[in-house]
Amino acid sequence: MSGPNTNYDPVQVSTLDANQVDARVAEALDAIAEASTTAELKQVRIAHTGDKSPLALANREIGALPPAARKDAGKRIGQARGRVNQALKARQEELAEAELEARLAAETTDVTLPVVTSPQGAPHPITALIDDVCDVFTAMGWEIAEGPEAESEWFNFDALNLGTDHPARALQDTLWLDPVSDGKCMRTATSPVQIHTLLKQQPPVRIISPGKVFRADEYDATHLPVFHQVEGLCVDKGITMGHLKGTVDAFARAMFGDVRTRFRPHYFPFTEPSAEVDLECFVCHGASVGNPDRPCRTCRSEGWIEWGGCGIVNPRVLIACGIDTRVYSGFAFGMGIDRTVMFRNNAPDLRDFVEGDVRFSRSLKGGAR
Ligand SMILES: [Zn+2]
Repeated sequence: MSGPNTNYDPVQVSTLDANQVDARVAEALDAIAEASTTAELKQVRIAHTGDKSPLALANREIGALPPAARKDAGKRIGQARGRVNQALKARQEELAEAELEARLAAETTDVTLPVVTSPQGAPHPITALIDDVCDVFTAMGWEIAEGPEAESEWFNFDALNLGTDHPARALQDTLWLDPVSDGKCMRTATSPVQIHTLLKQQPPVRIISPGKVFRADEYDATHLPVFHQVEGLCVDKGITMGHLKGTVDAFARAMFGDVRTRFRPHYFPFTEPSAEVDLECFVCHGASVGNPDRPCRTCRSEGWIEWGGCGIVNPRVLIACGIDTRVYSGFAFGMGIDRTVMFRNNAPDLRDFVEGDVRFSRSLKGGAR
């Protein structure tokens, strides 16, 4: 605080003197006019209107004046600050506009430059899912096994407990290779790979075999004559349904997150007992069942999705491969890859998988995740 309080004349307080105030305003206006960028103007703003600026300090002196003198001094300082602020605002607009124009000029696109025209592809969703499945199982110590797509009848049927007179054999629309008398066909499942492996390798065996399979099926939204399966086979001492359930559960969780699986009794010639594997709907988790207000497209409000088949390997299959069934047992499971991509990625038409439109692959971002 400054100045005595008796017979007080505000003119005597130097910082509130009209000439002094005018001089501070003039300094501020000069500095504002000289600022050539918004960054410089910011510094000017701090120096001339900030808490420690001469005008702000002068403003604080007003409180120390006798009441009669306060009004006059307040008006003087208020007007001075108003002029400075107005000048700052005008200069700010001027500089910002100039800077914008300069930036736009600098960033002008040269439309004559060549552009990158090669389109970006993406892994096919089937390939991406097969890679994912192989990652899941190799991480658990399983091996990947592959086999021929054209098979002899024995590998495709007989060894899998589907003898020539077995009724299930007629259920599969097999594509036979000419001449039919040679007994060669396009494999109807990836199961023959199990036989090839068991003939070459003594247990313990843990393999996953993804690949193409072939049926004389219609070509429509839900059927393709060529589609993909992945099969798993584990043969070792003391293998039980418990191991099978644990493995299928781990597989389901790796593919779909925190979901449960359900086994329904079924019949397959190559496993005994056999089960169909249902997956708890990973979208609604069953909340859509009996709840018309919350329908679920993924499971058609059934709460479960059919995913594949599985079971304990029929001893006849192991015997056909020369494996001692008193020592060893095994489990096997198989899932449709196309079907898995279909409901995992909400791709309702199987024909999109084979028609080669890169937009389909790209829309699924190369896969499965
Ligand atoms: Zn659902």
